[in-house]
Amino acid sequence: MKKVLIIGGGPAGMLAACRAAECGAEVTLLEKMNKLGLKLSLTGKGRCNITNTEPQIMTFIEKYGENGKFLINTFNTFFNKELMEFLQKRGLVLKELSGGRIYPESDNSWNVVDVLADYLKKLGVHVKLGSPVIELLHYKNVIGGVIHENGTLLCDAVIVATGGKSYSQTGSSGDGYQFARVTGHRVTDLYPGLVPFNLLDMDPGLNGVKLKNVRGTVTGDDEVLSEAFGEFYFTEWGADGSVILRLSRDVKEEIQEDYLSLHVDLKPALEEQKIHDRILREINSNGKLSYKSMLKELLPEKMISYFIRKTQIPEGTKIANITKEQRETVVRNLKDLTFTITGTRSFEEAIVTSGGVELSHINPRTMESKKIRNLYFAGEILNIDGDTGGYNLQAAFSTGYVAGENAAQEQDNEEN
Ligand SMILES: Cc1cc2nc3c(=O)[nH]c(=O)nc-3n(C[C@H](O)[C@H](O)[C@H](O)COP(=O)(O)OP(=O)(O)OC[C@H]3O[C@@H](n4cnc5c(N)ncnc54)[C@H](O)[C@@H]3O)c2cc1C
Repeated sequence: MKKVLIIGGGPAGMLAACRAAECGAEVTLLEKMNKLGLKLSLTGKGRCNITNTEPQIMTFIEKYGENGKFLINTFNTFFNKELMEFLQKRGLVLKELSGGRIYPESDNSWNVVDVLADYLKKLGVHVKLGSPVIELLHYKNVIGGVIHENGTLLCDAVIVATGGKSYSQTGSSGDGYQFARVTGHRVTDLYPGLVPFNLLDMDPGLNGVKLKNVRGTVTGDDEVLSEAFGEFYFTEWGADGSVILRLSRDVKEEIQEDYLSLHVDLKPALEEQKIHDRILREINSNGKLSYKSMLKELLPEKMISYFIRKTQIPEGTKIANITKEQRETVVRNLKDLTFTITGTRSFEEAIVTSGGVELSHINPRTMESKKIRNLYFAGEILNIDGDTGGYNLQAAFSTGYVAGENAAQEQDNEEN
């Protein structure tokens, strides 16, 4: 019986362990923390957006950018439908929310962890909690075991599923990158991914303002770098929320180099001229209305004071007295409210790590290293990161599944 050792008890490691055990291997899972799936428990604001129902693999992989094509083989083996069936078969009731996002019906991410932990137990996987791995043991180009804090374990195959380096208090502090490097794998530059922005001179009056159905655009040197539509909110230091996280994926490199600009279109459904017309209609029919009262029709209540300061039009001004120039200022700020982005928040606040183990060093059919035989990588440690919407967990589960299945195979994989 093949002995498979898995480092990391996140979604990738747990699925790898389940699958390797299903395929007949003797499996040991070493988890650094005293609980499995700590990061998994935080996902989807504690509700866990497990995957997405998008049915086409080729559309699904677009959510990971260029590197998504690495996942085609993996998804052909174990995709969203298979993941949902896997979890449902083990008792997890799922529900679908807008945008095809799948959650446990209970809205409790711990239920996902529990289902996986119960199945590991049923399969007889040896789960060793509080066991940080310190080093991989390999002789020439063949893996032989690991050294962990409580001893040495020898095995036939090792799967590294240690995750990225964001939210390090969950245990994912980037240890696996070092394992990869010392065994001859390149690790690309690492960036905080799906991460909020710091904005220059944040007006305290904006803190807590939530915007829905707005368009965010990031530019650098007057060039549009990314655009996203949806909602976001201001914080005391900058901006967070789905629009911002999506934008952050596209500008991860540029944002390290220079200050970029965030442009917010508060009325994306209306052309500038339409807003002018609307204001003019209001002026003609209700000229005694104050500027502040007119803004109540255009903006969320909490944003009005800020907008008055920004446009420098006294709040009590009767709208009939608003000049053409002032009207243009109002429209310009509604269509293009601009902020300076000074950078992103740190890895500690990033949903994922962007970058990771170089994909050309990994066999996309098996997740086995092309450098060291019987060494596999799965999950966020790889140079793959996706959009919000369940894509990162699907990638972790799928690569884990494929790594587990292949690590458990008795025959040596000579094709590498
Ligand atoms: C706040 C937040 C919300 C998120 N929400 C979603 C969401 O709703 N949907 C989605 O798709 N994605 C979401 N993600 C991303 C998703 O959680 C990760 O992409 C996913 O957990 C990666 O899985 P993984 O198994 O590769 O790594 P991880 O989940 O990071 O697991 C790695 C495990 O390895 C262990 N480990 C690390 N080093 C060692 C070592 N030396 N020895 C032993 N064990 C070690 C760690 O303790 C950890 O348990 C979210 C992330 C965060 C931070």
